[in-house]
Amino acid sequence: MQSPGKHNESYTSTCCYCGVGCGVIVKKEKNGTISVAGNKDYPVNKGMLCSKGLNLHYTVNDKSDRLLYPQMRYNKNMPMKRVNWDEALERTAAVFKTFIEKYGPDSVAFYASGQCLTEEYYVVNKLMKGFIGSNNIDTNSRLCMSSAVAAYKMSLGEDSVPVCYDDIELADCFYVTGANPAWCHPILWRRVEAHKAANPNVKIIVVDPRATDTCSVADLHLRVNPGTDITLNHAIGRLLIENGDIDIDFIRNHAEGFAQYSELVFKRTLTEAALICGVSEHDIRLAAKYIGEAKGFISMWTMGLNQSSVGVNKNLSLINLNLITGHIGKPGSGPLSLTGQPNAMGGREVGGLANLLPAHRDLKNSLHREEVQKFWNSKPINPQPGLTATEMFEALEGGRLKAIWIMCTNPLTSLPNVRLAEQALKKAKFVVVQEISSKPETLAYADVILPAAAWAEKEGTMTNSERRISYLNKVIDPPGEALPDAEIICRFAQKMGYRGFDYKNAAEIYAEHVKLTAKTNIDATGVSYELLKEQQSVQWPFKKRLRPAGTPRLFADKQFYTPHGKAIIHAVPDALNSEQPDDNYPFILTTGRVRDQWHTMSKTGKVSKLNQHTKQSFIEINPHDAILLQLNEGDVVVVKSRRGEVRLKTNITSSVKQGVVFIPMHWGKILGNDLHRVNNLTNDALDPISKEPDFKYCAVSVQKYEKP
Ligand code: SF4
Repeated sequence: MQSPGKHNESYTSTCCYCGVGCGVIVKKEKNGTISVAGNKDYPVNKGMLCSKGLNLHYTVNDKSDRLLYPQMRYNKNMPMKRVNWDEALERTAAVFKTFIEKYGPDSVAFYASGQCLTEEYYVVNKLMKGFIGSNNIDTNSRLCMSSAVAAYKMSLGEDSVPVCYDDIELADCFYVTGANPAWCHPILWRRVEAHKAANPNVKIIVVDPRATDTCSVADLHLRVNPGTDITLNHAIGRLLIENGDIDIDFIRNHAEGFAQYSELVFKRTLTEAALICGVSEHDIRLAAKYIGEAKGFISMWTMGLNQSSVGVNKNLSLINLNLITGHIGKPGSGPLSLTGQPNAMGGREVGGLANLLPAHRDLKNSLHREEVQKFWNSKPINPQPGLTATEMFEALEGGRLKAIWIMCTNPLTSLPNVRLAEQALKKAKFVVVQEISSKPETLAYADVILPAAAWAEKEGTMTNSERRISYLNKVIDPPGEALPDAEIICRFAQKMGYRGFDYKNAAEIYAEHVKLTAKTNIDATGVSYELLKEQQSVQWPFKKRLRPAGTPRLFADKQFYTPHGKAIIHAVPDALNSEQPDDNYPFILTTGRVRDQWHTMSKTGKVSKLNQHTKQSFIEINPHDAILLQLNEGDVVVVKSRRGEVRLKTNITSSVKQGVVFIPMHWGKILGNDLHRVNNLTNDALDPISKEPDFKYCAVSVQKYEKP
């Protein structure tokens, strides 16, 4: 067995792409490069890696785009010049102090990332909320998981994924909605596929307006009209009730809200629901039958539900299906939200969102604020939630926010209505960019550039989608003067004159974080670097004496984290408030991912093998629409929305429905040209609770491009 930690120049780590969190063995070669293989002993992936994971080492070995030393300029018209760390951080501290003094602490903000390690998240959250005195710390996780976070909290009383991956092999029905795990969470999906191959009675239902690779193993593909998820979930709920396929005992003793829910779902007939969703009554009945007959039922979802202006309601309507059937807290059953980023979960554990405090404490709760303030020995924590991801850029644009520190993320590709974000950075008084690569467009707007260490160049921890905490070894030194992100933040905090940031190493930061989890639902006390090196990973909540590997499955005792201990079934309306097509913008645009790229391609885009799969961005359009627009395969089209435009080659395919077009989200500006950047088009309308943007639905026009 491969020993965890260092072993003959081989080190254990965790893949830094999606939230599946596969274990890898990183080998340090004699020439200083690294190679990567799947960790056969790791419970998540048992040695498997997908195309992205298999090519991880290329992104680290290729240093051609790396930032090597801090840079700074005193004036936006001046060129950047190389400076040392003290100069860069002292100037940044001086500017931050000036703004805080003149305009108050809410005039500055940190925008971080679900790719940050837990320790990095912890220190930046502590710095901002405890010492600067503002809650303006948010991350790009807001763009992917915040609707699921809010829905878990509202229905189960806590942001807690109830299941573990080992439940996959115990389930006999999967309801996969708003997700394409075959491409976006491949190793997890391989486990579902293998389970079905070994057990042909296992049923897979896929709900998606597109025919994706995930559909290829589905028993039933419900090809819904975009945005109709709640109507579909309610229709299935109604049929489950009608068919008597609900768990009366669970509903009576362990849930609230069923009467209102039942009344609501019976308001719409199956015929109406089928019409709205664009699927047949027969298929909805079949989905309800598969779920009703299941002994183990897992609902699985990701951005298709989360990234919506009604994302929380979509999530709640899905979790309801697990609650009314009692499929939660038992083997092979429960809701399983798939995380897009490797450590979005760890970020939430330390409270790294504008509305959270450490260990999932609530910012609005005065006792929670006091607990954290005392622990940090800091100033009183501001009760007002800070600016969320898109709100930060609006506030910059409007002048309310003066300075932003962008850490480990690429907002000028990933934010919706991204040209507004570009305007915002142009207007910003002061921009700090903490990055590994010299490529992201944000660097053009920076006043200070801070070079960061990459994956395998620093140690720390992450938590995957099943609450599994893992330790990532440092294997090689970062190039040039690059530093681990946590060290950069701690050095800056000290330049600001704050106490409590003089950690000797990352282990000390982690130890402080776990102390704060004591007596909370995510209790990780007892977890340490030593333990993680010995055991590779544990799942929170962790009680060393009782459960040495942590807690794989939550709610086995049917005690939920709500005030009365009961799960809450929310009767949510099925209204959609997205921007609707009209004569000027007659198509619905939906966005998503391709198999071999990850997020804004700042890492995967460096790997020529991965670029082979999809060489450039494209637009998928249905053959009927192509005929009406007189388009041939490969024609270039101009796609416009109320916010901007792009120009792309057409891919004519019946995998999208008539009236719907699809564009991948990965491509940003290429050599100053933003004509492939889909977020020129997307809408920055937000879910009112989660503040997650409506990436999956906006109105666009499509026209053949005619050369001027
Ligand atoms: Fe990495 Fe996700 Fe692929 Fe696993 S499935 S190797 S975590 S990208």
